[in-house]
Amino acid sequence: MIKKKILVTGGAGFLGSHLCERLLREGNEVVCLDNYFTGQKQNVVHLLDNPFFELIRHDVTMPFFIEVEEIYNLACPASPIHYQYNPIKTVKTSVMGAINMLGLAKRIKAKVLQASTSEVYGDPEIHPQTEDYWGHVNPIGPRSCYDEGKRVAETLFINYHKQNKVRIKIIRIFNTYGPRMHPHDGRVVSNFIVQALKGEDITIYGDGSQTRSFCYVDDLLDGMIRLMNSRDDFIGPVNVGNPGEFTMMELAELVLKLTGSRSKIVYLPLPADDPAQRQPNIDLARKELGWKPAIPLEEGLKKTIEFFQTII
Ligand code: NAD
Ligand code: UDP
Repeated sequence: MIKKKILVTGGAGFLGSHLCERLLREGNEVVCLDNYFTGQKQNVVHLLDNPFFELIRHDVTMPFFIEVEEIYNLACPASPIHYQYNPIKTVKTSVMGAINMLGLAKRIKAKVLQASTSEVYGDPEIHPQTEDYWGHVNPIGPRSCYDEGKRVAETLFINYHKQNKVRIKIIRIFNTYGPRMHPHDGRVVSNFIVQALKGEDITIYGDGSQTRSFCYVDDLLDGMIRLMNSRDDFIGPVNVGNPGEFTMMELAELVLKLTGSRSKIVYLPLPADDPAQRQPNIDLARKELGWKPAIPLEEGLKKTIEFFQTII
């Protein structure tokens, strides 16, 4: 028996495709909506034979109507080179996408989850980041289309909840990686692995001392689904990420070790407003969701490297 009918926006992307797969596996009916800006049909082609899966080309900046019980709103390019390619469109996707999905949730009385981001903290001045930190974002910098778009989306979510009693959930996702990342999307984990496997130079931006905390996709989705299923009065925002913190230099060295590559490391200029450090405080997720990550970086990287070996 089908448990729930669920809409996943951005469902043909990296996280979205894994989420669709997992929700189907758990016995749900899934409608995947995507405009294929950074996602691809290829990511969900293996699900098309499943009678409980439906794929629809649609842009979330346009209204959409469907009857579902839950909405996961993931539509938005996530890699800096993609979200900076058309910054106005990035803002529209976050803001109009949120308005359209919240309007839909209100009308059909669905529960709606927003994929927010650690970027709402900008280049953080407190470390590790807790949910009560308001952030340090440059509103006119190159990352602002993404950061501010996601911040407004949170504002919309909270106000639809307060004003219209829409049942919402906000997850702040920290850098997540795994199989099905786009090989050219420019994010650091995919860049380093692809470069190492091809024997090309490993490109470190800046001196490599900046840090990130990397979460494996399966762990992240576990936290996301737990949040959606949490009690109605827990709405977040809640950090979900792996607190293990690494410099980009350490990441490069680990990728070189695991791939056995002889690529050399080169240093390129650091992009403007690149956050110097990032690490989630996950106390709230532990307490409210009973969640913590299980897959250490080395193990997750091995699985990701195996994926890239099959496509390169
Ligand atoms: P992704 O780029 O692989 O996926 C985004 C998906 O959204 C793509 O399939 C893309 O085609 C689709 N999309 C973009 N604009 C759209 C539009 N206007 N209408 C419909 N579909 C649209 O990125 P991802 O890593 O899978 O990220 C998914 C979500 O999670 C994003 O909202 C992102 O901001 C958030 N997030 C991801 C990370 C991460 O580390 N992966 C971190 C923080 C937040
Ligand atoms: N980075 C790097 N080399 C690359 C790609 C990224 O050194 O080839 C750095 C980037 O400057 C940033 C970190 O890796 O400091 C994470 O970058 P990513 O684009 O993956 O995510 P975000 O900056 O959005 O956290």
